[in-house]
Amino acid sequence: MPRIAIVFLTFLAGVASRRNKVLLVSMDGFRWDYVSSVPTPNLDRLAGIGTRADYINNTFCTKTFPSHFSVATGLYEESHGIIGNVMYDPVFNETFNPKTMDSKWWNGGEPIWITAVKQGLKSATYFWPGSEAEIRGLRPTLYKKYANVDIRVQIDNVTDWLKGDIDLAVMYSPQPDKAGHTYGPSAPELKEKVQEVDLAVGFLLDKLEEKNLSSKVNLVLTSDHGMTEIDFQKKRIEISSLVNLSDIIRKSDKGPLMHITPVEGKLESVYQALSKSDKMTVYKKEEIPEFWHYKNNRRVMPILCVADEGWSVVWDKDDLINKTDRGNHGYDNRLSSMKPIFYAAGPDIRKNYTTPPFLSVDIYSLLCSLLDIDQASNNGSYERVRNFVVKQGKTAGLSNDSGRLSISSIMALVIVLLFSFVCKKS
Ligand SMILES: [Zn+2]
Repeated sequence: MPRIAIVFLTFLAGVASRRNKVLLVSMDGFRWDYVSSVPTPNLDRLAGIGTRADYINNTFCTKTFPSHFSVATGLYEESHGIIGNVMYDPVFNETFNPKTMDSKWWNGGEPIWITAVKQGLKSATYFWPGSEAEIRGLRPTLYKKYANVDIRVQIDNVTDWLKGDIDLAVMYSPQPDKAGHTYGPSAPELKEKVQEVDLAVGFLLDKLEEKNLSSKVNLVLTSDHGMTEIDFQKKRIEISSLVNLSDIIRKSDKGPLMHITPVEGKLESVYQALSKSDKMTVYKKEEIPEFWHYKNNRRVMPILCVADEGWSVVWDKDDLINKTDRGNHGYDNRLSSMKPIFYAAGPDIRKNYTTPPFLSVDIYSLLCSLLDIDQASNNGSYERVRNFVVKQGKTAGLSNDSGRLSISSIMALVIVLLFSFVCKKS
């Protein structure tokens, strides 16, 4: 083969094997439509240089730990097992809370930072539910213990990591969720917080440019859930007013939903009594809708109460009575108010484009594709996100189309053959 063809082939091989880095960011509780309630010029700037969705469809239940673990693993709650921020496991005979880092609770799913290290990449996490736990015997290359840290410090750190040898950086910020809980999703204080978060997005985009990372890093920015107005005093369903509490052996969680285990032999009577409330839907475990992908897990109790939007399930008259929060989430994921934002930008992302909404469990496939790594088994689909990926060359790790030649690779092949032919002639 003529030398020029060899040089050209080497060049093409280099293009095909080029792997850009990935930064995954979550802004907790960033409801999809906050951006229409206040000016968010920096998110607009991000949309202009990349892709946005009006919203994405997140998983049930719409709580922080379950939702974030679904984004990180591509699995529904019933599969990864983090079915609440708090939960009880009948085999362990133990209760989980957000501080629980014991691997045995987390091993149900393989988060992206573990998939990356398993395949020889370096990953680093600056907070994310599950990121401090050893999972399936592995940890991210670098991780931070959760603390109260200024978002600008986080951004400075993660961009430094990416400037160094980290391939995948993951970052979580607790805002605007905190403000949403305290003031409610329509309050002026929440709007101010959204603008603060927007400024932080601007700071992030500036840092990526300053550190010469914009052309090397694919940024994916999303959230776990939305937020709705609540009133713990006026919109409450007291379990004690519906059933004899001695008929219940165990309960877990409260607010938008509550898990209940009745005393043996009392399932039907407790179920019937709770069902009298017209402000919540009560499910026997086997009746929980399939589309929630929630019921097939031992941590889900025999009865699940899901409050109507804005209502709170509480234990008795003293429960949450002094709590002044004006916002909450954890309700049915089909509610518009529960849906989060999505933005992405970088060398492999389509520019100035709005993608149709997809599922939060698809993000894992997207990240694996951007990193050119194989996916662990998951519930997502790359097919729903490929419309905004403009990546050239290798398509490894795409469970739904592995082995299929992309148009770009076919074109590259044709060019090489033509080139060899022309060179041979000359
Ligand atoms: Zn959250």
